Amino acid sequence: MTKLYIAVPCYNEEEVLPDSAEKLRAKLNQMMDNGLIGSDSRIVFIDDGSRDKTWELITQLHDSDSIYSGIKLSRNRGHQNALMCGLMTLKDEADAVISIDADLQDDIEVFDEMVEKYQQGCDVVYGVRSKRETDTFFKRFTAEGYYKVLDKMGAKVIFNHADFRLMSARALQAFAEFKETNLFLRGMVPMVGYKSDIVTYERSERLAGESKYPLKKMLALAWEGITSLSTKPIKLITRLGLIIFLISIVMLIYTLIRFFMGATETGWASLAVSIWAIGGLQMMAIGIIGEYIGKIYLESKRRPRYIVEEYLHD
Ligand code: UDP
Ligand code: MG
Repeated sequence: MTKLYIAVPCYNEEEVLPDSAEKLRAKLNQMMDNGLIGSDSRIVFIDDGSRDKTWELITQLHDSDSIYSGIKLSRNRGHQNALMCGLMTLKDEADAVISIDADLQDDIEVFDEMVEKYQQGCDVVYGVRSKRETDTFFKRFTAEGYYKVLDKMGAKVIFNHADFRLMSARALQAFAEFKETNLFLRGMVPMVGYKSDIVTYERSERLAGESKYPLKKMLALAWEGITSLSTKPIKLITRLGLIIFLISIVMLIYTLIRFFMGATETGWASLAVSIWAIGGLQMMAIGIIGEYIGKIYLESKRRPRYIVEEYLHD
């Protein structure tokens, strides 16, 4: 029987947690009754250094029912690190782990389908949003555009898939070999390989509380995605530099011709403009290269991605 663990990262989720916990428990119990998963299956909350009562709630849940466990990180490390901590802690205990956000915007009713696909031999099952009706136009537009940009940059990501997926113990063991500090999980999982499949679902509204992903964090994650999966931006800069250099040769010839014709005073405007344009482009280029160097710097430190303060389980 499949021993299924559900990994749920939580950051300041006191408003949504009791409700989510109950829904997840009911779902797992139903799956146990149907003989789909073993009775030793668990729901594991990873408290990402919350400042509210999240950890107290998790402790209470654990005391009330052994189906709940909790991992407490020593401080806030962000969604991707919290999830990684969950996956890495559970990889030796479970047969398969499903990751899902605490607000249950992703449909828990597709758990069955995910587990069935796992039992049929899939090591990774991606949850894919079929519609984005509950998202604002802005979010839908930027998110879908983003997936297309990632694709153009040569990164293999599953369209409209976030961090709702099932991974088998085998896939997680392989995943443990990915030692990078800068995490963009949804881009890294496909690199593991193995047989995979998708299940589609409609994403709903957050159950309660507000988004823990303000625009700033969202942009940071988006940038992380591009720079950790692709070096194309650097190549683009090189190409851009080459094109500008070619243009400058044309300009040189043009300037010389004008000089011999005795008309050099005019044209200061174009000169001023090009100084700004080149200056800006160079600054941008240095900035992007700096981003990658910054990443190399962080990776070379080999700092821990997270530190576990407490692990509640039986
Ligand atoms: N989260 C986290 N650490 C953070 C921010 C968010 O663990 O620093 C968790 C959060 O508790 C939730 C998930 O990441 O389970 C996704 O966050 P949210 O639902 O707020 O994002 P949105 O759906 O608005 O993109
Ligand atoms: Mg959410």
